[in-house]
Amino acid sequence: MLKFVKLQKESPPKRSTLERSQDFQEIYSEFINEKAKEQSSRCSQCGVPFCQIHCPLSNNIPDWLKLTAEGRMQEAYELSQSTNNMPEVCGRICPQDRLCEGNCVIEQSGHGTVTIGSIEKYITDTAWEKGWVKPIKIKKELKQSVGIIGSGPAGMACAEEMRKKGYQVTIYDRYDRPGGLLIYGIPNFKLEKFVVERRTKLLKDGGIKFIQNFEVGRDKSLNEIREKHDAVLIATGVYKAREIEIPGSELKNIFPAMEFLTASNKKGLGDRVELFDDGTLNAEGKNVVVIGGGDTAMDCVRTAVRQNAKSVKCLYRRDRSNMPGSSREVKNAEEEGVEFIWLTSPKKFIGDKKINKVEVDKMTLGEPDLSGRKKPVIKPGSEFTISADLVIKSLGFDPENIPKLFNAEELAISKWGTIKINLDSMETNLDGVFAAGDIVRGASLVVWAIRDGRDAATQIEKYLKSKAKENTIAA
Ligand SMILES: Cc1cc2nc3c(=O)[nH]c(=O)nc-3n(C[C@H](O)[C@H](O)[C@H](O)COP(=O)(O)OP(=O)(O)OC[C@H]3O[C@@H](n4cnc5c(N)ncnc54)[C@H](O)[C@@H]3O)c2cc1C
Ligand code: SF4
Repeated sequence: MLKFVKLQKESPPKRSTLERSQDFQEIYSEFINEKAKEQSSRCSQCGVPFCQIHCPLSNNIPDWLKLTAEGRMQEAYELSQSTNNMPEVCGRICPQDRLCEGNCVIEQSGHGTVTIGSIEKYITDTAWEKGWVKPIKIKKELKQSVGIIGSGPAGMACAEEMRKKGYQVTIYDRYDRPGGLLIYGIPNFKLEKFVVERRTKLLKDGGIKFIQNFEVGRDKSLNEIREKHDAVLIATGVYKAREIEIPGSELKNIFPAMEFLTASNKKGLGDRVELFDDGTLNAEGKNVVVIGGGDTAMDCVRTAVRQNAKSVKCLYRRDRSNMPGSSREVKNAEEEGVEFIWLTSPKKFIGDKKINKVEVDKMTLGEPDLSGRKKPVIKPGSEFTISADLVIKSLGFDPENIPKLFNAEELAISKWGTIKINLDSMETNLDGVFAAGDIVRGASLVVWAIRDGRDAATQIEKYLKSKAKENTIAA
């Protein structure tokens, strides 16, 4: 270990821009075994590991790096999976620059971080390849059951942890495939779908029941789900796209980001998608304008590049240093030919029935706002126009009105529309109903959803045990 003094930081090689922008496959090649060992040996084995502190799952990073450096891969895998339900997913898509790697001590001292994410991915991909990843085998079936609404990372992590304890687990989801945003939001070039599908198959093989195309609220009310199970977890994510209220918003070919990304992901999975097949949601040959500066906007611009758009422009009202998205993803997008028009905000959509141009204002940056980022202010008289055949709005997400959708007006929500929980017990104001993931936090990260799902499982088990005890005493 401690080889960071002699060994340079190396990430797995990125495929060339030309090659990768012509397909939807992941852009990084895999580490070869020797490189993973070598890079792991750069770790300085800190007594107080800041990488671990800044990982939402408190992954035991220094120990699995040491095991990898020593070639003890199966032990590295066992340790890595003990705190994370999908390490190969986090290794691929966590914004490591803001989490573990950004806080690595050797990064802080100017030697370049240990490439933790790539090694985490390598360990678990190796485990899958070698057949070390096995379905859950429980010691004793328990009678009590948990109904989980939503099969995103929060719902799946909670389901796995509850099943390991022996409970009966059913996941309900309104989509036709499990995975939530892992399957229909995040594009293939960041996370190939087989990675998600093999995880859901593993959960099914471990005895978790998945009911797809089932929308709570439409197919059954929350109370009906409560009657069927001893406890319920709401893990429905946030899906209401933020709108942009400017003249011309009614013109055709202006779409919310999720509609564009879901269509592309469904095509990648081999589905028929009418609006894509008739060309409406296909960026091919079009001047595409994406509005927004977060990670979803980056996924949209990079998807448009891969669909062979004529041009792809990203409008963002602040500058590069004030962008909310990961700098790694902005760099990838720039390499792939996306043009960023910083400090611009759309003023008007122009066209005759269909969008044809976007009129934009130039912006300057004023004082920092509540988020700590500088507030954009319009520069009077600075308008100019940009050609556009397809506009994608990516301004963030808010929660849907869950109490109304679930026919459960009594369910308490916060002023932002997220579900209110007791932060210790993760229980909502309804007895035996818990909530986790984006629907509690607002739009966040996969790694936080997994953390919340695991914490919810701990709390639900406590609740179910106390209920079982009450019932025994009453009997
Ligand atoms: C385009 C995009 C890219 C992203 N990229 C990244 C990234 O690179 N890295 C990262 O860490 N995070 C990323 N995120 C964020 C991350 O995907 C989310 O934080 C995470 O998926 C939240 O998990 P969740 O389980 O709370 O919800 P979700 O993943 O949203 O899953 C919720 C599930 O609930 C189901 N559901 C909703 N309502 C109902 C209902 N009424 N009945 C039944 N089922 C219902 C939905 O169908 C869905 O399957 C991205 C998000 C988006 C939109
Ligand atoms: S889960 Fe994410 S933050 Fe934690 S070690 Fe892995 S890549 Fe880093």
